[in-house]
Amino acid sequence: MADSIFTTIESLRKELHQFNYAYYVLDSPSISDFEFDQKLKTLQSLERQYPQYDDPSSPTHRVGGTVSKSFPTQTHEYRMYSLDNSYNEKDLELWANRAEKTLEEPIDFVAELKYDGASISLYYENGKLKSATTRGDGFQGDEITFNVKTISDIPLTLNGDYPERFYCRGEIFLSRARFERLNAQRLEQGLDPFMNPRNTASGSLKLQDSAEVRKRGLSALIYQVVCSEPVAASHFELLEKAQFWGFKTSTHTKKCASLKEVWEFISYWQDHKQDLPFEIDGIVIKINSLSQQQTLGYTAKSPRWAIAYKFPSTAQQTQLLSVSYQVGRTGALTPVANLKPVLLNGTMVKRASLHNEDSIRKLDLHENDFVYVEKGGEIIPKIVGVNHDLRPSGSEPIAFLTNCPICGTALEKLVDQAIHFCPNELHCPPQVVGKMIHYVSRKALDIENLGSETIEQLYEAKLLETPADFYTLSREMLLPLDRMAEKSVQNILQAIENSKTVPFEKVLFGLGIKHVGETVAKKLARTFPSIDSLMQAPTESLLEIPDIGEKIILSLQSYFQNAENRHLIERLKSYGVQLEQSGEAKEPLSDILKDKTFLFTGKLSLFTREAAEAMVQEHGGKNASAVSSKLNFLVVGEKAGSKLKKALELGTVEILDEQQFLDLISGS
Ligand code: AMP
Ligand code: ZN
Repeated sequence: MADSIFTTIESLRKELHQFNYAYYVLDSPSISDFEFDQKLKTLQSLERQYPQYDDPSSPTHRVGGTVSKSFPTQTHEYRMYSLDNSYNEKDLELWANRAEKTLEEPIDFVAELKYDGASISLYYENGKLKSATTRGDGFQGDEITFNVKTISDIPLTLNGDYPERFYCRGEIFLSRARFERLNAQRLEQGLDPFMNPRNTASGSLKLQDSAEVRKRGLSALIYQVVCSEPVAASHFELLEKAQFWGFKTSTHTKKCASLKEVWEFISYWQDHKQDLPFEIDGIVIKINSLSQQQTLGYTAKSPRWAIAYKFPSTAQQTQLLSVSYQVGRTGALTPVANLKPVLLNGTMVKRASLHNEDSIRKLDLHENDFVYVEKGGEIIPKIVGVNHDLRPSGSEPIAFLTNCPICGTALEKLVDQAIHFCPNELHCPPQVVGKMIHYVSRKALDIENLGSETIEQLYEAKLLETPADFYTLSREMLLPLDRMAEKSVQNILQAIENSKTVPFEKVLFGLGIKHVGETVAKKLARTFPSIDSLMQAPTESLLEIPDIGEKIILSLQSYFQNAENRHLIERLKSYGVQLEQSGEAKEPLSDILKDKTFLFTGKLSLFTREAAEAMVQEHGGKNASAVSSKLNFLVVGEKAGSKLKKALELGTVEILDEQQFLDLISGS
């Protein structure tokens, strides 16, 4: 009896999966909605009566109802990169030429629509959907499996010759029709309408109740298969296979033998994108051959084998009113464009970053130009182009400032850098204040409760001019300041007192010497027992320290040559600030890799194996000699072989490339 029930349940599930596939993927329903609902209800009631036969892949799980209080973070086995952007034919040509030059052979392209939604990584094992994770920062995202299961375009079980384990990546979005229907409903209920389909789609994925997610009616299209097994020779073939396994792929994807064909595809969709049932914000062009993709590899941010072409209309046009400049702690100047306010993806934009002089020149930006602004990954939008047709006559190119906008000192620019900076380190107000804010920061002297506003007030009241002045502050000086009570004054004074026990390496970092970051400061403080011995160190002995190069040495020397800096150091010493090693045992650079084991394999190109192993130790990790279930990370260089294979078989080892390893130890 029980067996025959199980058989019925299984066959209902199979039927429903097939109907679902016919309906959502092939777009040709094989039974009526009514029949479908009847069968689903029968299955639901059987599963309720016989809970022992429940299966997370059953089509009944699409109905939703699981409430997630929070979504666990999941690390991506393969990093989810972003895409480089291009805005015209020339950008595309440059990209293709570069690839062709590396490959030294002809290339075929695949052109795809760039769906405007939220990307998702779907993990399948033995033909069953195991987990679904958002892109997050590309290294790790939120696991939202329950919510994703409610999306009918995403198969829960697969057909055919799928690989044992692999990832499918795609975009989850809301069709225009669904979006309009949702908004009509919301207006009826007296709720504010949603701003745009993209934000609504990504917001819907994070709803706590998966039954609510189901009601939103999200769609999905798959655009990539990531698998360690050689399943196909080309990206296009892989997509065809994926469709056969049960995934929904776009019918508009096109193989292109030349850039000319790619450009025709782009032009066509530029004119016809409104005819699509969903929004796209561009076209993605990929190199078809998977072995060519592998040869090209990745930059720190994106694959070299793919590029996005962004439609100009996704950028908004507005007018440049003026350019202003911000001066940072190190004296670096950042130009900022002040714009005529414009609505961009639902927010009013008034300013955009211009980065530096080179980027202004590259844009060929003139006064009062009409510009295209776009929101990238950053909070501050950027200018992506200029509408030359609307340039006011007689408008001059934007000339970069020659003098600091705050203190008037002539700006300097290093030969090998694009950045201008104000060299008046010791007296340019934002630099002076910035240095003091840096001095009290958590990784430096960690003087809690002393915020940047308080420091600014004290600076304006001429009570603070260098970090040494912190040690002369008194209750009487602090109390009259805005929002300062007896208790907070006590806390500040106590924290300043406590900073006298902060170890030398942190004090050295806190001085804010150019190019002396946290790690460099640690290395210096461990090599030289005191600031005096560091000041007297000959160049040769500085050069012997790993990773300490000429740039750092020059910066140190010019810092110590300055009489005001030497005076500061003497004063800090006199107040009892630690300017020498306290003689305690060396601690590692960080414990970021604590309890983690690493193994390196293949041909490494960013560092040697010895250096890599030393880095692991310096950050509290351990080096392993072989792949085993105890291994946490395998870092693979080129031509990795049996170790990689073994690690993949185990499935418990996280695979990193060299850049990912560096990102990991730098904590980014
Ligand atoms: P961006 O966020 O501008 O760096 O663009 C990368 C994103 O484009 C990916 O994370 C995907 O979510 C999305 N995307 C949309 N359509 C495609 C496609 N056909 N191929 C690759 N990525 C796509
Ligand atoms: Zn200045």
